[in-house]
Amino acid sequence: MSGGYEQVTDWIRRFAAEVTERKNELTKLDQAIGDGDHGTNMDRGLRKAVEKLDAVEGDDVGAALKAVGMALVSSVGGAGGPLYGTFFLQAGQSAAGRSELDADGFAAAVKAGVEGVQSRGKAEPEDKTMIDALLPAAAALAEGGTLAEAAARGADAAEEGMRATIPLIARKGRASYLGERSRGHQDPGATSSALMMRAAAEAFADPS
Ligand code: ADP
Ligand code: MG
Repeated sequence: MSGGYEQVTDWIRRFAAEVTERKNELTKLDQAIGDGDHGTNMDRGLRKAVEKLDAVEGDDVGAALKAVGMALVSSVGGAGGPLYGTFFLQAGQSAAGRSELDADGFAAAVKAGVEGVQSRGKAEPEDKTMIDALLPAAAALAEGGTLAEAAARGADAAEEGMRATIPLIARKGRASYLGERSRGHQDPGATSSALMMRAAAEAFADPS
């Protein structure tokens, strides 16, 4: 089974809906180790992204993902929005011209997105950022299987990576200003990234 255009855009719509629902939770996490804007930033950006998707024509999933990236880059300030924007621009580049994504295509798109985030933000594993959820997800997606299986594994890996940020000391972004005091808090960006990967697992789940 491949994810067609409807499923790929459903991924983004589910991610946006989940962020709206969990906006306060993301804000609280960012209040603890940042400036408390991650929930509102992501909510604003993803609402714009969904508006853009509604206006995109055709069935090019790469073009849809790029539109999402453009919306995020242009509507969200701070670190998180542009990094997510980069993720979707690079994922869209990887998927350009395709009308559907199979497991390999989705794995390649996520890999390209994560590489974009790393080249822009320079975060390494265990710096307590979204990379700690995204890199394990990308690795899990590359293990093969059907798209539904891979996406479910990717979401599990992202959630595990998210929880593993709790004991870490932040070395990138605003949270790094706190040094030792950043320990004991779950990273907001890793949390939203886990929501993003869970949304993909739901969008790409086999119809039951
Ligand atoms: P800001 O930090 O500008 O307020 P947000 O609150 O929207 O932006 O996003 C914060 C999140 O961004 C952090 O929780 C972290 O996951 C992520 N982040 C910050 N800097 C980097 C970086 N250099 N590389 C990857 N992710 C980063
Ligand atoms: Mg913030």
